[in-house]
Amino acid sequence: MKQVYMETFGCQMNVADSDRMELLLFHSGYARTQVAEDADLILVNTCSIREKAEHKVFSLFGSFRPLKEANPDLILGLAGCLAQQEQDRLLRRIPDLDMIIGPDVIEDIGLALDQVLAQKTPVVWTKFDQHKQYSIPELQSIKNQGPSAFVNIIKGCDKLCSFCVVPFTRGREKSREPEEIYQEVRQLVAAGAKEIILLGQNVNAYGKHGLKNPLAFHDLLYGVADLPGVERLRFTTSHPMDFTRDLIRAFRDLGPLMNHLHLPVQSGNNRILEMMRRHHTVEYYVDLIEELKSTVPGVALSTDIIVGFPGETRSEFEDTLNLMERIGYSNSYIFAYSPRPNTPALEFEDNVPDAEKSDRLQATIDLQHRLSRQNGQRFMGKTVEVLVEGRSARQGARFKGRNPEYWMVLFSGEEESLKPGQIVPVQVDEVLGHALKGHAIAQ
Ligand code: SF4
Repeated sequence: MKQVYMETFGCQMNVADSDRMELLLFHSGYARTQVAEDADLILVNTCSIREKAEHKVFSLFGSFRPLKEANPDLILGLAGCLAQQEQDRLLRRIPDLDMIIGPDVIEDIGLALDQVLAQKTPVVWTKFDQHKQYSIPELQSIKNQGPSAFVNIIKGCDKLCSFCVVPFTRGREKSREPEEIYQEVRQLVAAGAKEIILLGQNVNAYGKHGLKNPLAFHDLLYGVADLPGVERLRFTTSHPMDFTRDLIRAFRDLGPLMNHLHLPVQSGNNRILEMMRRHHTVEYYVDLIEELKSTVPGVALSTDIIVGFPGETRSEFEDTLNLMERIGYSNSYIFAYSPRPNTPALEFEDNVPDAEKSDRLQATIDLQHRLSRQNGQRFMGKTVEVLVEGRSARQGARFKGRNPEYWMVLFSGEEESLKPGQIVPVQVDEVLGHALKGHAIAQ
C-alpha cells in the first residue's frame, strides 16, 4: 500500500474531515503513516479562521520542500477552508503544491488524486454543488472505535457573521438525513462508542434545509438518545438564535444528554454584536442562559469570544468581561480578531492596535482561568461519573476521561479494573485549571 502523512489544523469539523479522508484514502490504497519522510502523499487539512493558522501552514509546506526535491513523485495536497478560499494565492506561495481540495468535496478525494496522477499541472478540486444532498456514504471502518465518537449532522452555515469565513468555504446549511445519522450511530455503538457528539458549524439549525421530511434539531436529539447503547450525548456548536425552548426541555428530559452547553457569544456588547451580525442582543443571550440554568441546575457553560473587533472600545471590551463574570463560564475559546479574506468585516477598519488586542486577550484569558478555578471548586470532594478515555501520564495520574460537565478528569485507579469506555465514579481531590484530579472509587 502507498502511504499518506496527514496534518490537521483548526476546528473539530476539520478533525472529523481528516478522519473521513483517511478512511477514503485507505479505500483508494493509502495507509496512514506518522512519518512524513515515508509518505507518497502529504495532505494538510487547513483552517483559515485565524491568520496565525495560515502562517503555520506555509511554514509546514516549506519544511516539505526537501522531501519533494528528493522524491518528485511525492504528492503534496492541501485541504480545508484555506484551500477553498485562497486557491490562487496558495498556488503562488507553494509552487510544489499538486492538489487543492475543498472541504465540501472531500468525498471526491480519490477522483482528485487520479487526476493528479494523470496530469502534470496542479489539480484544484473545490467546486461544490449547493443542490446536492448532504450524505456520508458508509465505508468499512479501519480504526478501533474509541469511547467517544463525532457524527456530522449538518454542514455549512447561513448565519453570515461578519468576521467568519465558514459560509464562503463550506457553503450554506445542508442537513444529513436522520436515518443515515441513526445508522452511523448504531455502527459506532456496535464498535464500542459510548458517547456520541453531534457535529456541525451550527447544529441547532439542523433540519431547516436539505431534508426530505423536515425534522427539528431537538427531535433528532430525542431520536439519537433513544438508540440502544448511547450512554452519553453531546453536540457542538450552536448559535444563540437557533437555540429553542424545545432544546432546553431536551436537556431536562433526556438522560444521555450531558450537562454541558457550548454556546458562542463572541462579545458582551450590543453594538459589537450588531457589527458582528450575530442578530441577537446580550439580553436575549442572558435570558436563554438563565432559563437553561433554572431548568437544568448545575449545567456547565462554555463559549467563544473575540476581543479587539474593529472599533471595539475599552469599555465595550469590558462589557465582555462583565458578561463572562455574570454567566460564570467553565471554559472559553478566546481569540484576538484578525481580518480574514472575503469576510464582510473587512469593510471595517481593523483599528484596535495589536498591543491593545494582546492586552485584552490576556485579561480575558486571566478572567477565564479564575472562573474555571471557581467553577471547579463545586466538584471538590465530590464523586463524579467519568467516561474513561484511556491512559494519561499528566500530573501523576494514570487515566483520563470526562465528567458530564465536560471537564477533563485525571485520576488514579486499579489497572485491571479500568478500561476505556467504562463509566466509573471518581472522587475529586484537586482542581487544576480546567481539569480535575482524583481517584477512582472501587465499585
Ligand atoms: S454562526 Fe457565524 S461564526 Fe458560526 S460558523 Fe456560522 S457564520 Fe461562522
